[in-house]
Amino acid sequence: MLEHDVIIVGGGLAGCRAAVEIARTDSGLNVAVVAKTHPIRSHSVAAQGGIAATLKNVDADDNWEAHAFDTVKGSDYLADQDAVEILAREAPDAIIDLEHMGVLFSRLPDGRIAQRAFGGHSQRRTCYAADKTGHAILHELVNNLRRYGITIYDEWYVMQLIVEDAQAKGIVMYRLLDGQIEVVRAKAVMVATGGYGRAFNTTSNDYASTGDGLAMAALAGIPLEDMEFVQFHPTGLYPVGVLISEAVRGEGAYLINSQGDRFMAAYAPSKMELAPRDITSRAIAREIAAGRGINVDGSAGGPFVHLDVRHLGKEKIMSRIPFAWEESHRLVGIDAVHQPIPVRPTIHYSMGGIPTNTSGQVRSSSSGLIDGLFAAGEAACVSVHGANRLGSNSLLECVVYGKITGAAIARFVSNRKLPQLDDRPYLQAAGQQIQSLLALSGNMRIQPLRQALQDCMTEYCGVFRTQEVMQAGLAKLQELQQQYQQIYLDDKGKLWNTEIVEALELRSLLVVAQLILTSALHRQESRGAHYREDYPQREDANFLKHTLAYYSPAGIEIDYLPVQITMFEPQERKY
Ligand SMILES: Cc1cc2nc3c(=O)[nH]c(=O)nc-3n(C[C@H](O)[C@H](O)[C@H](O)COP(=O)(O)OP(=O)(O)OC[C@H]3O[C@@H](n4cnc5c(N)ncnc54)[C@H](O)[C@@H]3O)c2cc1C
Repeated sequence: MLEHDVIIVGGGLAGCRAAVEIARTDSGLNVAVVAKTHPIRSHSVAAQGGIAATLKNVDADDNWEAHAFDTVKGSDYLADQDAVEILAREAPDAIIDLEHMGVLFSRLPDGRIAQRAFGGHSQRRTCYAADKTGHAILHELVNNLRRYGITIYDEWYVMQLIVEDAQAKGIVMYRLLDGQIEVVRAKAVMVATGGYGRAFNTTSNDYASTGDGLAMAALAGIPLEDMEFVQFHPTGLYPVGVLISEAVRGEGAYLINSQGDRFMAAYAPSKMELAPRDITSRAIAREIAAGRGINVDGSAGGPFVHLDVRHLGKEKIMSRIPFAWEESHRLVGIDAVHQPIPVRPTIHYSMGGIPTNTSGQVRSSSSGLIDGLFAAGEAACVSVHGANRLGSNSLLECVVYGKITGAAIARFVSNRKLPQLDDRPYLQAAGQQIQSLLALSGNMRIQPLRQALQDCMTEYCGVFRTQEVMQAGLAKLQELQQQYQQIYLDDKGKLWNTEIVEALELRSLLVVAQLILTSALHRQESRGAHYREDYPQREDANFLKHTLAYYSPAGIEIDYLPVQITMFEPQERKY
């Protein structure tokens, strides 16, 4: 059995930031990070537009209270305001700290860190490194892991969290290289496995965003919070779905329909293209549904709208948003200096996740905590985003709560012994799980089943939802779960058997999908990203509360958790 003081699952921004903080707090601690990709290939590396903080470099009268208010309003009042306060207050120091680590931010002419406008933010407060911000930050953090001597297990797939009697004791992991299975025993375990965009058929997320950490937590009996809130980013490049960053609208791009109108005037007249993502995504979906979308040949009635940057001019496009130009050119042959970019909403972010308190400790229920289990980043729900996340607040959450959680873990493990753990039953069960996957002799390949699941979620749990449609979705999902027993794997070997990992990821997606659909069915109101055509109003009287969904093979149980309202009373949300 391998042993570490702390094992962190996930090498993205949240996991790496926590690891650095643990090492800084107590350099004697033995910390390890495990990731199924190389850490530098975590989805964080793809983050583009920036990271919010009230540095006041551009808008001098900005302050943390305004950042907190924008975040809470953006969340449709579902965010926990104590958690948001920490996020907004800590943000400037978090950026300066990144800068001291070596992150190269874009600059103003006078040398200070540049800041741009972003959707739902009332001031220009988003710091950035052109439109490759995640790349700039993650590379420095991973360099720092090496500097602090943190052990990295890359290309190991974590199969299970070991939780006994409400205490986390370690993990079970599988090495892609040769199929070796190991148990890691640890005093504290942290989950930082990112989101689940791959549960849907069009997403900005990478192939590894399969919700494994969420599924592992759910299978360990931990409830998942607010899973119904799935963010559609308004501007996925049509038809591939990859992201055209919100920074493009932050720099002044227009959204145009087939009639040549800047249609956001009808939906959010004061914010226009910089309305929050839920509102902008619905506006685009409505324009397309009303026949004002555009076809590839330029005619009306098509499946996308235009994102137009031509008026910004070549120099600004190439210096501020070069990656957006590059992606459009490489993937769909559009030269954005001279042509508008075809876009439509794409699945982007999971607001919900593993419930934590503001120290990153995982909740076991509405009142209890799991000893020694922590979570942060997109996999977690501390809830700073509530029902809808504002752009550039997620990278911020990863670094602020990564740091806080790291510090809490360092405190937690000091003077503690490693837990008692018998690894044999875990090794045996994991070995059997792999063996039985290899032994499956059905007639279905993994890819079509995964595709069917992604199509099911997109069709039955999309931008607009109703009871009837979601119930049909759950029935379909049940069929797909049964079909999982009828898959077969071509590769029966041990070396680099990526089919085994795909099969395990598909299991995660099936669990997560059921939690999303069931949570969405129970929330009979419209709030943030969750829009019910059969319940089009927000219902604070009944639903100003977080959903907690408990998974079991027999079905999902729903409970609720109160929202922390400390600063801003809920109001009607208008832009
Ligand atoms: C294209 C794109 C652009 C974005 N742009 C911005 C932006 O400009 N600003 C902003 O604030 N937010 C942005 N976001 C959101 C933000 O990037 C993410 O929410 C954030 O980076 C998530 O970081 P994380 O550390 O939680 O997880 P990730 O970076 O997703 O890392 C997850 C880690 O977990 C590991 N892992 C997962 N499952 C397992 C397993 N079973 N076993 C072992 N390891 C596992 C992975 O290998 C990986 O290392 C963007 C997102 C996308 C997709």
